[in-house]
Amino acid sequence: MKSRSKFFAGKCLCTAITVRLPEKVTDVGVCHCAMCRRWNSGPWMSFQVPEAEITGKPLAVYRSSAFAERGFCARCGSHIFHRPQDGPELAISAGLFDFRDQYIAREICFDDKPPFYEFVAESERRTTASMAREWLPRLLKRRVARWLSGS
Ligand SMILES: [Zn+2]
Ligand SMILES: [Zn+2]
Repeated sequence: MKSRSKFFAGKCLCTAITVRLPEKVTDVGVCHCAMCRRWNSGPWMSFQVPEAEITGKPLAVYRSSAFAERGFCARCGSHIFHRPQDGPELAISAGLFDFRDQYIAREICFDDKPPFYEFVAESERRTTASMAREWLPRLLKRRVARWLSGS
């Protein structure tokens, strides 16, 4: 019988990096932004799981913008996570998990999507501008708080 912890574990292609989820997550967010498409050669599909535990090495972290960073396995290149440099959010690559019942819950930066692909599933769609309006003030506030605290 499969153990519970094993059931909620995902892994990179070479199995060096393991990601453990406290519970099964199936609602996939898709990002069509230019950075995610360059990173993935396509849209990036992820789960938002701030409590996810990432273990193993070699894990490389790349600062992809002024506010965010992306983690990947430095051995096989599998993309593991995207997170803000300040704050608790953590998006984990959905493809690391074998769940067959994943579904697309939202597509973000939808206006950045190139015309040559699209998903059949209907889900919530957000524009890049609406994401920026929601996130930039929050991220700036956190950055200023970190500067003021001197860390
Ligand atoms: Zn790997
Ligand atoms: Zn993106």
